[in-house]
Amino acid sequence: MVCLNCGNTFEGNFCPHCGQSAEVKRLQAGEMLKNAIGPFVGGDNRFLRTAWQLITRPGHLVRDYLLGKRIRYYHPLQMYVFLLTAYAITCYVLGINISIFDRSSDISFGDYERDGIVLASVRKVADYFNFIENDKLYGTLAAAIYAVPVFTWMFRKVHLPRPDGTSQPLCATENFYAQMYSSCIDLLLSTFLLPLSLIEGIGDWLLNAFGAVTFAYVIVLYRQMLGLKWPKAILLCCIGFALTIALFVLFIFAIVVIAFGIDLLMK
Ligand SMILES: [Zn+2]
Repeated sequence: MVCLNCGNTFEGNFCPHCGQSAEVKRLQAGEMLKNAIGPFVGGDNRFLRTAWQLITRPGHLVRDYLLGKRIRYYHPLQMYVFLLTAYAITCYVLGINISIFDRSSDISFGDYERDGIVLASVRKVADYFNFIENDKLYGTLAAAIYAVPVFTWMFRKVHLPRPDGTSQPLCATENFYAQMYSSCIDLLLSTFLLPLSLIEGIGDWLLNAFGAVTFAYVIVLYRQMLGLKWPKAILLCCIGFALTIALFVLFIFAIVVIAFGIDLLMK
C-alpha cells in the first residue's frame, strides 16, 4: 500500500512513517462529520476522556502523559486553546462581558516620583500584572511560567520512576505541562460554573470557593502524579504557591529598584 499523505510504501492499518490511516475515504458529508466530531464522541474520544480524567484523576493522567501515553490524551496546550475557545463562546452566549472568576489583585506600593514626574509607577506595573492575571490566555501562561522554576525547585528531591528504569525528578518542561493541565481544569470548571455567575449576589462567595477548589486540584494533581502522602503534597504545594506569588512581587519590586537606580545615576 502507498500512503496518500507521505508516499511511503507500507502494510497494515496505519502508515508507520506519518501515521495516516490506510483507509482514506473521499470527503463527503458523513466523512466530514466523522472527522469533525470524531475526537470528541467517536471511537477515539480523546477529548472527553482527557476532560473527564482531568476532573476525576488529574495526577494519574499527567503522569501517564509524561511517561509516554501521548496518543491517549490531548496535548495540554492544544486542550487549553480549545477550552479557552469554549469558555469565550459560553461567555458570549450567556452575555457575560467580564467573568466573575477573574481575580483582582490590590498590589499597590505607590509611585516613585521626583519633581512631580512619575519615574516608576508601581501601580502601573501592578495594573499590568492585574491585566495579565485577569486574562485567561496570557495570565495562565504567565502564571505557569512563574510557577515552573518554583515547583521544579520545590519538588527536586521527589523522584518519578521512568519506563527506562531510571528515577528522576520532573524537569522544568514537565512541570510546565503539569501546570498547563491544571490550567485546563481551571478552564473546565470556569466554563461549567459560568451560568451561576448570572445569579445576583453569588459572585464573591463563588469566587472564593472557586479559588479554593482550583488550588486543591493543584495539590491533588501533584500528590497523584508523584505518589506523595497528603501532608507532604499539601506542604510542598502551599510553599510553592507562596513562593510563586513572592517571585511575582519580587519582579515588580526589581523594576522599581532599577528605576530608582537609574534616577540616582542620572542626578
Ligand atoms: Zn505516510
